Amino acid sequence: MSEQGQQNISSRNLADFVSVNPCQIRKDFSYFGGFGTRGVGYKIEELIRQIKKILKLDVAHKAALIGVGNLGSAILAHPGFRAYGFDIAAAFDSDPKKIGRRVKDIMVEDVSNLGALKRRKIDLAIIAVPRDAAQQTADALVRANVKGILNFSPCYVTVPKKVKVISLDIAMDLARLPYYMPTS
Ligand code: ATP
Repeated sequence: MSEQGQQNISSRNLADFVSVNPCQIRKDFSYFGGFGTRGVGYKIEELIRQIKKILKLDVAHKAALIGVGNLGSAILAHPGFRAYGFDIAAAFDSDPKKIGRRVKDIMVEDVSNLGALKRRKIDLAIIAVPRDAAQQTADALVRANVKGILNFSPCYVTVPKKVKVISLDIAMDLARLPYYMPTS
């Protein structure tokens, strides 16, 4: 709506978008101080600013990608991370044929150099290595002071409490669908 030049939005409009009632919208925002005006609604730019602050997306982050295979290359090519202030600033692989190559303007580095992430202020990482390399990769990222990991390897990884991991197994997500599909 902001891109379309709209300035204000009512809690009713917001509620319709996410299929809840307007009271819920007002109540949720009130936990954070409430930033709407009665009769006018919310100023969209201000609302975006406040929501980004609540979600801690008001600070830009640099991320590293580990594993520049088919999936990793697709992730590097994906333009959507910028919308949330993420910059994939480095890519690593263990394959000597890939190290030194450029993928989407990023030079693939040797994974044995992950320790340099701390100095480069890269605090997020995306794991796209095969399953059997995922845990050792996560361990190396923890040692490099990374604080958040998005794991695309089809397995769980264990990390200390101070590090947040979100695992995404797209094959397993697809496998969930037949259960919910109507049988014909
Ligand atoms: P391709 O085989 O075309 O590279 P892929 O996605 O099928 O793509 P995978 O076997 O899933 O390949 O491996 C993904 C990437 O992870 C590859 O580029 C591989 O070289 C890399 N890789 C494997 N082990 C490690 C590791 N321990 N550290 C970093 N990268 C690794």
